[in-house]
Amino acid sequence: MRIIGQHADLRAARRDWHEEGRSVGLVPTMGALHEGHLALVRRARAACGRVAVSLFVNPTQFGPNEDLARYPRSPEEDMRLLGAEGVDLLYMPADGDMYEKDASTTVHVGGITDHLCGPFRPGHFDGVATVVAKLLLRVMPDAACFGEKDWQQLQVIRRLARDLDIPARIIGVPVVREADGLALSSRNRYLPQEERAKAVLISQNLKHAAESIRAAPGNIGRVLAGGRENLEKAGFRVDYFECADAESCAPARDLARPARLFAAARLGSTRLIDNWPV
Ligand code: AMP
Repeated sequence: MRIIGQHADLRAARRDWHEEGRSVGLVPTMGALHEGHLALVRRARAACGRVAVSLFVNPTQFGPNEDLARYPRSPEEDMRLLGAEGVDLLYMPADGDMYEKDASTTVHVGGITDHLCGPFRPGHFDGVATVVAKLLLRVMPDAACFGEKDWQQLQVIRRLARDLDIPARIIGVPVVREADGLALSSRNRYLPQEERAKAVLISQNLKHAAESIRAAPGNIGRVLAGGRENLEKAGFRVDYFECADAESCAPARDLARPARLFAAARLGSTRLIDNWPV
């Protein structure tokens, strides 16, 4: 596995692969890798001849009161895991390699970002969209893989690639879960044992609510209120427990179009998100 810190070298590697006629798959990550990330790597490997992974804890997608400083970092272990997966190239931008000091361009995807996490994390999706656009332009992959764990983010990225004519195929990869149903997340490492035991209530309530809505689609509002209340009673601070259009992420109160359930809730100082098909 080649490890690259400068984007000029990344471009050169990309050009060599292109000349060899290899297709390229990209997997953007913030590191602290787990089986969810590795599922993306395997999907990229299945779709493309060469796999590049980026590892960058992107400061612009964290708010001033968020967890940038304590975001988990385990680069040695990440390199070991990616090497074992047969990843061809790991791009870990050196200091200063990602953003120009006086960078003044931001990618804003409207509409989708008005909902769900958008209002709770001002600026977050602009940070994500800008860094992902830069990574897609630096690597020019044939395909790029993103997890359905961050469903709204996946819709934002599909939209930005479409609207900016970025010719990569955006592949969504199903959520990888622990045996009890908790969605794998780098942030799960923050959870003390007692909170880890409670965290499973998010996926359990989403699953239960999805079943209730399927059985009685006229009761969506009541089911959502029930899901929120269950989490609050267990000690979560709930940002949202919502049924939303699977593409626009706008609230949905019927099943006229494909919809999903989404939850974001805080346990102690950790914010967890998950989603479930209806
Ligand atoms: P992150 O490092 O948290 O920014 O995540 C990098 C990529 O991995 C994103 O596309 C995430 O959606 C994806 N991802 C994170 N956790 C999971 C999971 N449990 N299942 C599937 N994909 C995931």
